[in-house]
Amino acid sequence: MNTLSRRSLVSTGAASALALGTYINPLAVFARQATPQPDVDVSALDDLRTRLNGTLMLPGDSGYLAASAPANGRYLDIQPAAVARCADEADVVTCIQWCNENGVSPVGRGGGHSYAGFSTTTGLMIDIRRLNSMAVDTREGMVTCGGAALNNDFFIATEDGPLFLPGGTCLGVGMGGLTLGGGIGYNAHWAGLTCDHLQASRIVTGAGEVLDIDGSTNSDLYWACRGGAGGNFGINTSFTFDLVEVPQDGIAYYRFEWTGADAAFATLAA
Ligand SMILES: Cc1cc2nc3c(=O)[nH]c(=O)nc-3n(C[C@H](O)[C@H](O)[C@H](O)COP(=O)(O)OP(=O)(O)OC[C@H]3O[C@@H](n4cnc5c(N)ncnc54)[C@H](O)[C@@H]3O)c2cc1C
Repeated sequence: MNTLSRRSLVSTGAASALALGTYINPLAVFARQATPQPDVDVSALDDLRTRLNGTLMLPGDSGYLAASAPANGRYLDIQPAAVARCADEADVVTCIQWCNENGVSPVGRGGGHSYAGFSTTTGLMIDIRRLNSMAVDTREGMVTCGGAALNNDFFIATEDGPLFLPGGTCLGVGMGGLTLGGGIGYNAHWAGLTCDHLQASRIVTGAGEVLDIDGSTNSDLYWACRGGAGGNFGINTSFTFDLVEVPQDGIAYYRFEWTGADAAFATLAA
């Protein structure tokens, strides 16, 4: 058994997570070609472009393939008619309203780490990655972040303590998919799931309404957003969490090394 500081643990996790994060999407991008999406009217797409503060990417546009690539190559063939890279919450509302007006299916994309392809679509991909603000209030023990802040943004914002959010292990995972699906990390056994710390959120519903949700306002939606899975109830543009204190004790970790399947069984049985 070895001991290491929290900072070392975070750094080690960061290196492996970033390595994995950069491994996934480039393969997906280069393995496919853009295909035209004839189902969505070109003039409707022009209309959306003029209404956005952010940018709209169509098949063939620079950045489209990278923006729309799934984390899992199994879903490479599912390509969006367009990717709307939202600049702000108003853009998310615009996208939802435009989808309703034009009969196009919307899907939100935050950190883009859905193994199951839940952030892929042949309709409009609403890319909220620019909504990644982060405001830590140490006095109140709270943090408010944009709907697509990443685990990495939290680690950077809280790496010197004294408070942190029990998030996930991969730095590239988005807070949206993580929190809405529960959120399991290194500290879950004593600090709970990420969703256990969600105190409030703002959500754009399927009707294009912006709602504040917490334990007393729209409390049914708040309940659903603590583990009810991403993309089911709207697009969350911000999350507010309570933070927990960084433990002052040392951290213990165990490392098992083996070569070959037989050695793995022997090691785990020991
Ligand atoms: C390498 C890797 C490591 C992982 N490690 C962990 C881990 O340690 N712990 C853990 O619990 N899980 C882990 N996961 C699983 C991960 O939490 C889920 O796949 C999660 O859904 C990814 O969220 P995302 O925002 O990055 O993905 P996306 O693909 O962007 O979104 C996933 C789903 O959530 C929706 N969504 C995303 N953001 C929002 C939002 N703001 N509002 C509404 N809906 C939204 C999307 O529409 C989609 O349905 C890991 C996944 C990968 C690929």
